[in-house]
Amino acid sequence: MHYQDHYDVIVVGGGHAGTEAALASARQGVKTMLLSQNIETLGQMSCNPAIGGIGKGHLVKEVDALGGAMARAADLAGIQFRTLNSSKGPAVRATRAQADRIRYKAAIRAMLENQPNLSLFQQAVDDLVVENGRVAGVVTQAGLRFSAKTVVLTVGTFLGGLIHIGLQNHQGGRAGDPASIALSRRLRELPFRVDRLKTGTPPRIATQSIDFSQLKEQPGDTPTPVFSFLGKASDHPRQISCYITHTNDQTHEVIRQNLHRSPMYSGEIEGIGPRYCPSIEDKVVRFADRNAHQIFLEPEGLECGEVYPNGISTSLPFDVQYEIVRSMKGLENAHITRPGYAIEYDFFDPRDLNPWLETRHMPGLFFAGQINGTTGYEEAAAQGLIAGLNAALQVRELAPWYPRRDQAYIGVLIDDLITSGTREPYRMFTSRAEYRLMLREDNADVRLTPIGRELGVVDDLRWQVFNEKQDAVEHEQQRLAASKLSPEKLDQQKVSAILGEPLNKATNALELLRRPNVDYQTLMSLLDEQVAVAPEVAEQVMIQVKYSGYINRQQNEIDRLQRNESLPLPADMNYKNVRGLSNEVREKLEAARPVSLGQAARISGVTPAAVSLLLVHLKRTG
Ligand code: FAD
Repeated sequence: MHYQDHYDVIVVGGGHAGTEAALASARQGVKTMLLSQNIETLGQMSCNPAIGGIGKGHLVKEVDALGGAMARAADLAGIQFRTLNSSKGPAVRATRAQADRIRYKAAIRAMLENQPNLSLFQQAVDDLVVENGRVAGVVTQAGLRFSAKTVVLTVGTFLGGLIHIGLQNHQGGRAGDPASIALSRRLRELPFRVDRLKTGTPPRIATQSIDFSQLKEQPGDTPTPVFSFLGKASDHPRQISCYITHTNDQTHEVIRQNLHRSPMYSGEIEGIGPRYCPSIEDKVVRFADRNAHQIFLEPEGLECGEVYPNGISTSLPFDVQYEIVRSMKGLENAHITRPGYAIEYDFFDPRDLNPWLETRHMPGLFFAGQINGTTGYEEAAAQGLIAGLNAALQVRELAPWYPRRDQAYIGVLIDDLITSGTREPYRMFTSRAEYRLMLREDNADVRLTPIGRELGVVDDLRWQVFNEKQDAVEHEQQRLAASKLSPEKLDQQKVSAILGEPLNKATNALELLRRPNVDYQTLMSLLDEQVAVAPEVAEQVMIQVKYSGYINRQQNEIDRLQRNESLPLPADMNYKNVRGLSNEVREKLEAARPVSLGQAARISGVTPAAVSLLLVHLKRTG
């Protein structure tokens, strides 16, 4: 008898998308299995050991607000934390953590192993079971068959993976792991649009072989930031510094002399690489006038003796990598422990997905992560959470859910992908969001935790912490609003020193906080009070009062657009019946099949006039 087992949801792949997908499904009480090639590599960081950064930190906070694992793992594994853009407005401030990759993997694995309703199994998946046009399970390399109501595929850079070091190449999913060849072949038989992308990673360097005494030190921030809304700085392990070196004329000359040995420049690699994470050879060619690039030397862990040189991702041959590394200050005697490489892999056109990440061609099959054309752990985690959430909602016979563009960066990410597709690895930036002021890191919990609670992915502890914080913010706002300040009772000398002028009419403390040069700390000093609330509560009170004018204006704009934005377009809509549409627009709409009027409006080539015609049609037929 053949072995067979049944699950509600099967998640294939234990990277950043797969782990969030499996946890989001299991948190809903749905019987879930995470099937991955190798249990030892669950939560592995294939490239740089860091979580967050501009735009990406926002995604991590949103995943956390919906009960996800990434932020908590980063808090437990982070060995250097910084707030980027700290001098700018709250909308673009972003948290970044340098992570100890062993601790990170351990934290993710512990969360997976302790999650009720979730089983782990180690096997590569080679085939999908399809019944009546719907996915019905998977078959593993050893011929084991697992049936499921829904399947989430999150196999990263592994599909048809081809690793390049110079002009040599070999199959691989990433260094040390086999490529998924059988599954890639199987998926190519299905009616998905598939193409190739590439990404790369730098060589790693033995810590002992670096002369740090010549290099600039970059410590983390104090007080140390935290990632999770449930986190505390005391969750972090010991904090250490990164160091900075630079490429120089000699480095650039070595690269220029050897460009003909690069698989990218010799035409060996067909896939397009990440524009915003270019290889060092790309940077030298594209920015030919620059004679130095900054390289961050980032420790890979507390006990680990390897350093990640951030900024010299390369697929040049090993002997050239060696010369590049040794040309830089502090690295004159560096020993490379792992060569850098580029990898080419299959990805699927995300325009073939519904916004809840179910594929349009095969009901029950969801795609998340790098296979949708994105790059980055955070982008993968965000999609994984949405795919796993919806795979389980479908099992529970509930309607799908996905955030709108004005609700979350996750909404921006998904809408960009499914509406416009991508020709190069897509990464998140704050500039991709039109409602940045609403989508701050600090309010990700306000935006998403109540929804997550309703959907069944936010547990009791997170819900309690969220409510306590909201109560504290409200209480503090009321207290400050009731705290009347009259000029005669204040130390006007102190007031002038802070405000730049004396206070000449009565006001309340909340109003004073609105002034540009008054922060929470100075307000407390004016009131002769100690800061009595938690820093995150003070931050919320301050941001809400200082930016209320802008926030209200943006909210009004969202409300106005929202009325039409969310008007649904039926899946079987016949665009031939919409009067006045040009053939070009009609073809674009037929190909994209947008789910809402808002999505239709964002398809390139769909004009505002065409949107009006759609609106008229909907009103006439609806
Ligand atoms: P992955 O993390 O790749 O996880 C895929 C998982 O699927 C793995 O657990 C694997 O074992 C499993 N799997 C694969 N095939 C099967 C199968 N058939 N059956 C079962 N399990 C399977 N990101 C950046 O942001 N910047 C960078 O510069 C960058 N450079 C990179 C360089 C390299 C060389 C690589 C490999 C990745 C790089 N990344 C970079 C990307 C980053 O690693 C990915 O974006 C992220 O890991 C994607 O997460 P994922 O969950 O989609 O896939």
